[in-house]
Amino acid sequence: MNATATGTRGDESSLLARLSLEQKVRLLTGADAWSLYAINAVGLRSMIVSDGPSGVRGRRFDPGNPSSSLPCPVALGATWDEDLVLEVARALGEEARSRGVDVLLAPTVNIVRTPLSGRGFECFSEDPVLTARIAVAYVRGVQGSGVGATAKHYVANDSETDRRTYDARISDQVLRELYLAPFEACVFEADVAMVMAAYNSVNGHTMTANPTLLRDLLKDEWGFQGVVISDWSATRTTEPTALAGLDLVMPGPRGPWGDQLVAAVREGTVPEVVVDDKVSRLLRLARRVGALNGVSQIDSPDGADGHHSEPMTAGRTFIDPTLLREVTSRSFVLLRNQDGLLPLKPTDMRRVALIGPNAIEPQTQGGGSVRVLPVVRPGLADSLLTLGEFDAVDVHQGCVTWATIPQPRDGTLRDPVSGAPGVHVEVRDADGTLRHDNSIPRSVLTWWDGLPSAVHQPGSELVMRARYRASVDGPHVVGVAGVGVLSIAIDGSVLAEATTLHPTEVVEALSRPPELRVPIELKAGGEVEIRAAYRPNVRGPEAGFVTMRLGVTPRLDENQLIDEAVASAREADVAVVVVGSAEGTESEGYDRDTLSLPGRQDELVRRVAAVQPNTVVIVNSGMPVLMPWVDDVAALIQVWLPGQAFGEALTDCLLGFVEPGGRLPISIPRGATDSPVLDAIPKGGEIAYSEGLLVGYRGYDRSEREPLFCFGHGLGYTAWSYDSLVLESDALLRDQDLPVVVTVRNAGQRAGRDVVQVYLEAPDDDPGRPLRVLAAFATVEADAGQTAEARMVIPARAFARFDTGAGGWVWPPGSYTVRVGRSSRDLRLAQPVQLGAG
Ligand code: BGC
Repeated sequence: MNATATGTRGDESSLLARLSLEQKVRLLTGADAWSLYAINAVGLRSMIVSDGPSGVRGRRFDPGNPSSSLPCPVALGATWDEDLVLEVARALGEEARSRGVDVLLAPTVNIVRTPLSGRGFECFSEDPVLTARIAVAYVRGVQGSGVGATAKHYVANDSETDRRTYDARISDQVLRELYLAPFEACVFEADVAMVMAAYNSVNGHTMTANPTLLRDLLKDEWGFQGVVISDWSATRTTEPTALAGLDLVMPGPRGPWGDQLVAAVREGTVPEVVVDDKVSRLLRLARRVGALNGVSQIDSPDGADGHHSEPMTAGRTFIDPTLLREVTSRSFVLLRNQDGLLPLKPTDMRRVALIGPNAIEPQTQGGGSVRVLPVVRPGLADSLLTLGEFDAVDVHQGCVTWATIPQPRDGTLRDPVSGAPGVHVEVRDADGTLRHDNSIPRSVLTWWDGLPSAVHQPGSELVMRARYRASVDGPHVVGVAGVGVLSIAIDGSVLAEATTLHPTEVVEALSRPPELRVPIELKAGGEVEIRAAYRPNVRGPEAGFVTMRLGVTPRLDENQLIDEAVASAREADVAVVVVGSAEGTESEGYDRDTLSLPGRQDELVRRVAAVQPNTVVIVNSGMPVLMPWVDDVAALIQVWLPGQAFGEALTDCLLGFVEPGGRLPISIPRGATDSPVLDAIPKGGEIAYSEGLLVGYRGYDRSEREPLFCFGHGLGYTAWSYDSLVLESDALLRDQDLPVVVTVRNAGQRAGRDVVQVYLEAPDDDPGRPLRVLAAFATVEADAGQTAEARMVIPARAFARFDTGAGGWVWPPGSYTVRVGRSSRDLRLAQPVQLGAG
């Protein structure tokens, strides 16, 4: 039998010897959704894992215990700054530690293969080198605070459509050079604590049971010493997964290991040494995170339902808001700035029209497991008013993009029992017994909100009651969303009832649940009592993902919304139009089906730009959107899904307190079909990675198609000249790194920062290979008129390619070209370097 057993060492082996087979196997499946079993007899306390990557959620949403909300990972990729990412990740690790979390389920190091990817915002980049550099910094930062990090989702979970079942067909060469490279870097350079096996299959084997990629490559070839954890509910078999190299099945306590694995060991189909190896990996992890200290931090969560209260440790910490504000503005990419409109000069520009659905409801996070209950910071309008010297900031929604009726956030909903803002929540079990009864300040509830386990039992009912006070006369809409049986009663009369169906992917129920709506007529100042009832559909393996939302809004006339926004733009000195994804547009669990902005946002931008030459568009999306109006607007900033510091960081950039410092970590297409890979919809259950290595800019460069904005692009508030490129040597041997020094000069009027990018071109012109690839990068700072040196190293691997036939890396000899510049298409200097044979 071929099974990995790296053996056990020192203390781990003496602890192992004290455990029975049953005790060992029990450790290998979670105790609940987020914790592992404790064994007090050997001093092992329960370890806690938590998502990640844009903050640390903890085991539930708790308004009294919120989380710092970081810019989404693609925004961290846009900083191109390993030191800054390391600093933020270290602070994130400290925050995780302070809320009792041992392992963060982050970072996501998959590659942005298609811009439609629902979860692309959760990756760092379309490029393996940028992804690897930022991922290594992130892992080192988190782990530097004594918390484990998890490189996920191993591997090829590069899209979400049918993610649990598709089989990615990828050549070994493409896997090694592109999709595995960031994982390899996390193992070799950052000693990552965990690797998460993805839902999908690769080349015929589901990733939790993929011996080639888990056992042979990750553990044997790379020597990974950490724990391979399954993605949630991704483990479907006993022997194949146990033998393939998976170490930990999540969530628990049920799963395909447990008694079945004990039986398999007793029957000899799984050698006990394989179990021992898994346990010793977990014990090593425990030692690393301080869980082998003989003290149980929480009670052993036997029989727990995953909803016990969060272990609070003394000295809860948050990431310094100033640091978050800095990293956020450093992630914003200034894509266009005609005639230097930005930074704004408040002395000349007295009135601002702040327009757009995302000016009112910015999407600061993507959907799915990445979500945290964020620390609340000042919004954009408030920040502009407080920090700018404007006379007025006039806010207009402009159009409607919501998929479900929004929860009113203006105090118009009140709990009829307590009178507090928000709603009253009750949970009853099947026989009508009240199990939960409280008041919440919002009208959205998910299983993360600490609902009692009764809510997951058949026949249970969740009820939200609220009084709604209308602020305008006219038609309104009430919506209640969830998967199951929904009803809406107004002032005691049931007006609608419906049963909604389970979406194909469970996380969809969380991010965009189906909705029942009823129209009602109200007078300004009038009140109604709303009772929204919901019997969750609790069938199926993922029944735990209960979500319920209640929304109310006056019916809005979109023509009027646009007209009002345009009128306001005409009156103002400058229009700031914030467009982008709506809630539910970008989420784990599904992909987008279009690159276009939702709703009438394109029309809104065009009409505003037609009356206001000083129009600045802010694009609030994790992945690219089409910008058919781009030539009509004076300035454009991509702000991603920016986290809690959005308002302050954008104000800092608009007013020029800081530069928008980001560079694109992904290409932005001009038209939908320009992207080298557009959709990722499996055909016959398979996704053929037929583009090979030509993903992102590598594909654009080969096809000679112009992206709208290329990989690496980003303006700042100053200008740069590239003065010299010096290679340490013009002749190299294989396996040799190449140090390079680039001298740049700040040729503009103010101090600034630039990202110096180094690309490498190979001697041959193989059309299946990229024309050039990113090989190194560095940030530099200089005052106006000053020069700065960027010292970088092109690693030997940049010259290598994976030879599937030889089963290893090869270094084709010949004359390579090193090019440096400010983006993948703004290359200013070049030098040849000769790579020798042998
Ligand atoms: C996601 C993982 C996440 C896990 C736990 C899964 O659905 O794919 O990224 O860590 O859930 O929330």
